[in-house]
Amino acid sequence: EDIILELVDLKKHYPVLGGVLRREVNSVKALDGISIAIRRGECLGIVGESGCGKTTTSKAIIRLHDPTSGKILFHPNDREEPVDIASLSPRQLKKKNLRHRLQMVFQDPTTSMNPRMLVKNIIAEPIKEQEKLSPHDLEARVVELLNLVGLNKDHLFRYPHEFSGGQRQRIAVARAIATNPEFLVLDEPTSALDVSVQAQILNLLHSLRKKLGLTYLFVTHHLLVVKYISDRIAVMYLGKVVELAGTDSLFENTCHPYTWALLSGIPSTDIDETRERIILEGDVPSPLDPPSGCRFHTRCPFAIKVCSQIEPQLIDTGGDHLVACHRSHDTRALFHNHATKG
Ligand code: SF4
Repeated sequence: EDIILELVDLKKHYPVLGGVLRREVNSVKALDGISIAIRRGECLGIVGESGCGKTTTSKAIIRLHDPTSGKILFHPNDREEPVDIASLSPRQLKKKNLRHRLQMVFQDPTTSMNPRMLVKNIIAEPIKEQEKLSPHDLEARVVELLNLVGLNKDHLFRYPHEFSGGQRQRIAVARAIATNPEFLVLDEPTSALDVSVQAQILNLLHSLRKKLGLTYLFVTHHLLVVKYISDRIAVMYLGKVVELAGTDSLFENTCHPYTWALLSGIPSTDIDETRERIILEGDVPSPLDPPSGCRFHTRCPFAIKVCSQIEPQLIDTGGDHLVACHRSHDTRALFHNHATKG
């Protein structure tokens, strides 16, 4: 298997200070030991409700924050040794050019773009950090990038506010690919856009991945978006991965009760109409004090005694389909019976 990025038991805990001495009294377990191997050239989707740890994962990869423990192994190619991004200092990250080889596109491009900069300079900035080009060559490179994202040289001397949301996201994508990265983290890149524009940006991202040989980590709370764009999908709940499978397998052979509940919430015109519904009771528990054993046991209709005592591990149930549930072997029958009774 050709792996490009491997998350190994990655954790991010935020300290909670208390008492007169402001000592650490607890921690928010935003990410609590996730292990995922991302294959070169694939689009891996991460899906889950807000607070499940998906954005924490994406920010750790590009080191917008430092993980508490665990590894982020980047395997550039078979000629270079893997590097642990989690353990490098900002200087080492720069020296190894990792800030350019792994890039990120955010949900809202306006917050990551200087409103007083011309599009030409927004896209040229990362290129100038990486290589010295003559002004003529630099502009030619920026035009080439604009063309790649469906814009053109007429857009060079305009400001971000002169563009629509979809066009601004195209500019953000052009800037992200300007340094020829191998890996792109896309964090809700279409969530702020109208549905019709969303489809255009998804199609653009899909074709760029094929054309440029990129690997994507695509983070979203939107199940149909993740289904459309991803080769494989990881479902997260309270800082853990609960199910990880190929997109078709995840939708057709759903094994984890949480995934089933998420999927059964999609309107039936968009998805398998025969899917029995599971409606989740209660809110997601606090990551300050996550439930013991399986974190989903407080809301799972199929919980048994062992579920609150022992944490289920993420194991392969066959066919590259990983599930963390004590009852994964008979959940499909459980889903069906639940619906018949319900
Ligand atoms: Fe439900 Fe138990 Fe499976 Fe957790 S381990 S999802 S509580 S059946």
